[in-house]
Amino acid sequence: MKTKNPFCERLAAFADKVSERRLDAAVVFGQANIRALTGVDCDNACLLVGGGKVVFYTDFRYTSAVGRTAPWLKVDDIKKLKGDKPLKAGGLAFSKVGYESSVLHSKFLLLKKVFPGARFVDVAEDIGGLRAVKTAWEQDALRAAERLNDEIWAEARSSFRAGMTERGMARIIKHLMIDRGEGEAFETIVCVGRNAAECHHVPDDTVWSGREPVLVDMGVKLGGVCSDMTRNIVPERPSRLYKKVYSLVLEANMRAIEAARPGMTAEALDGVARRFLSKNGFGKAFGHSLGHGVGFEVHEPPYAAKRRKTVLKEGMSLTIEPGVYLEGNLGVRIEDLVLITADGCEVLSHSEK
Ligand code: ZN
Ligand code: ZN
Repeated sequence: MKTKNPFCERLAAFADKVSERRLDAAVVFGQANIRALTGVDCDNACLLVGGGKVVFYTDFRYTSAVGRTAPWLKVDDIKKLKGDKPLKAGGLAFSKVGYESSVLHSKFLLLKKVFPGARFVDVAEDIGGLRAVKTAWEQDALRAAERLNDEIWAEARSSFRAGMTERGMARIIKHLMIDRGEGEAFETIVCVGRNAAECHHVPDDTVWSGREPVLVDMGVKLGGVCSDMTRNIVPERPSRLYKKVYSLVLEANMRAIEAARPGMTAEALDGVARRFLSKNGFGKAFGHSLGHGVGFEVHEPPYAAKRRKTVLKEGMSLTIEPGVYLEGNLGVRIEDLVLITADGCEVLSHSEK
């Protein structure tokens, strides 16, 4: 590969994995996977990697886009993968083929026709592992997206008034994201008061009196990548319980940020926040995992959770989002996006917490 784009190295590493695993080829259908391996964003494509070849199958609408972004890729017509006859790709024989176990069943049936008699091996985790470590280009894109997310939060926050509904506040954020970025990376979550006890509450007509806490989980898309952050509006006179929970969640968040470094497992990092909240009596109220990677998708590897043995590496992105949820009463989550560095982590979210 002579011409370079930021994704060349990852594609080369994937080609190495394919031969290391003694596969004749691997076929990739996932849009985000293809983007992370080639830089091309295309909703009708299949990437074939193997035997020293890379073929990008797509339709005529995308041919020039592939040529612009990744001119070294051989482009071919996706109709060749219709399944009416076995695939012939430069004399390659396909007896062991890598695929993503997440593909639709219909796609898998198609693969069985395209590669008759082949044994299929799941390579989703191989691709996930490569995607988890961000390229320098992706790291810069994440910094810019999270910075914009901070700005949008500051502006939205200052326009929130008592009497607004959750839906109204979410709409303000959504419009700012459309104006300044590429829209929402996921549906903005706004929870007034006890609605925050529900982790993924959908904004409704609940009115903010200005006296209850508000939890906002938001992420703008920019440059194709996502951002993700959760902040809380703490009222002037919060209940004693809210105050206590807020300071514990904040400490859990900061302890995990302090601990995050390459070489530790994702499970161990989750444990830092979990042990702290458990010791303080709120372990059961922390019902989800500590965090997830963010990139072209808002949830992608690595996952910081119990039993996740992934070793953290320099360049990985990860959210750190401990939360405590007390049903019918309150909920607090504080979420920052970080990048693992050579000796710790860089926090990309700068909004006050
Ligand atoms: Zn979030
Ligand atoms: Zn998140």
